[in-house]
Amino acid sequence: MTVAVPRPVAALPRVVGADLKVPLVTGQFVEYANLDHAASAPCLEQVRDAVDELLPWYASVHRGAGFASHVSTRVYGQARDAVRRFLGARAGDAVVFTRNTTDALNLLARALPRRTSVVLFDTDHHAALLPWRGPGVRRLRTPSSAAGAVLELDRALRACPEGPRLVVVTGASNVTGEVWPVAELAAVARRHGARVVLDAAQLAPHRPVDLKALDVDYAVLSGHKLYAPFGAGALVGRADWLRAAEPYLVGGGATALVTDHGDRLGVAWSAVPERHEAGSPNVVGAHALGVACDVLGRHWERTGAHERGLLARLRAGLATVPGVRELSLFGAEHDRVGVVSFVVGGQDAGYLAAALSAEHGIGVRDGAFCAHVAVHRLAAGQRALRASLGLGSTEEHVDRLVAALRSLVLEGP
Ligand code: PLP
Repeated sequence: MTVAVPRPVAALPRVVGADLKVPLVTGQFVEYANLDHAASAPCLEQVRDAVDELLPWYASVHRGAGFASHVSTRVYGQARDAVRRFLGARAGDAVVFTRNTTDALNLLARALPRRTSVVLFDTDHHAALLPWRGPGVRRLRTPSSAAGAVLELDRALRACPEGPRLVVVTGASNVTGEVWPVAELAAVARRHGARVVLDAAQLAPHRPVDLKALDVDYAVLSGHKLYAPFGAGALVGRADWLRAAEPYLVGGGATALVTDHGDRLGVAWSAVPERHEAGSPNVVGAHALGVACDVLGRHWERTGAHERGLLARLRAGLATVPGVRELSLFGAEHDRVGVVSFVVGGQDAGYLAAALSAEHGIGVRDGAFCAHVAVHRLAAGQRALRASLGLGSTEEHVDRLVAALRSLVLEGP
């Protein structure tokens, strides 16, 4: 029998593909510098191993009587518990597995009681900006300070009609990485009897999120940004609205009983969370997400220190490149996670991103990052570049980006 030697907690969790080599236009191969963690983070080694272990066992959950079905059902339930722990959910909060954050926010939007007023800020990611429709939606222009956002929300909620209210708050901007004053906004919402949904897609990979401590009602996240593969996300929070709502999708799993009444079918819907998880669930994806939550939750100190060091190095390096201007909602000094967007003088972001990849083996993102209002405003109509850090990032990646930008800017296309 082999005895597993536990990894020291102080070590940074490792990601797969850290030594990937990519081709350059010259035909040479270099180690890939993935500076696009904000889009999707590479898979943790521990997640890969856990998925590998589950693959021989996965089977349909809940319905099967076979042993593999029992294993899968148990693993699926454990994944729910892991997500619940990771987000500091309250007893009684629902954990609904979804495809990703977009799916989770659309689910919540469909579950709102009639005539719910929704208040949000216009610089949010499209996933948080677009699911809410109708006359009850108030879209606030994001002010130039976090304190201003709190005041603006207070003003908007004072003007809201009576009835249910929901405030949409982004944890960390996917454009600037800036951390929103979530607890302060939630306190204002609470004073006005409003609920809060936290878009934690960009915050949860970088900082602990605790629903109870922040006093928010719902949180949503995506596994693929949390070092798990694609296909699983979650909506976590108050169960009552979800219980009262029609199922998000209809089909097997969402139904407790279907009866034939000749000209019509009688349907009794399942309880939450199954009510909103119609169809065979993504057991492997949920397991991957749950394991990623557990691993990240045990390493905040170490991962936080790693990210802070690299972020300071990246920002200091970018400041030395002629023409670089960092984008910011609330000012350069505002707290942020490892996400930095910038424009470079008169240079085209698309050209720079392509050249960084082809000539230097560096992956960044260019464009408007599914937050068109934010980028158009902050970059004055230009496309922007975004470098985002994570567990796969190293000092060499950051230094390579800064040196490559410098040479591209000085030499031109
Ligand atoms: N919210 C934020 C802040 C994001 O950064 C993203 C993705 O970039 C999303 C929501 C949407 O996530 P997904 O595409 O996984 O649904």
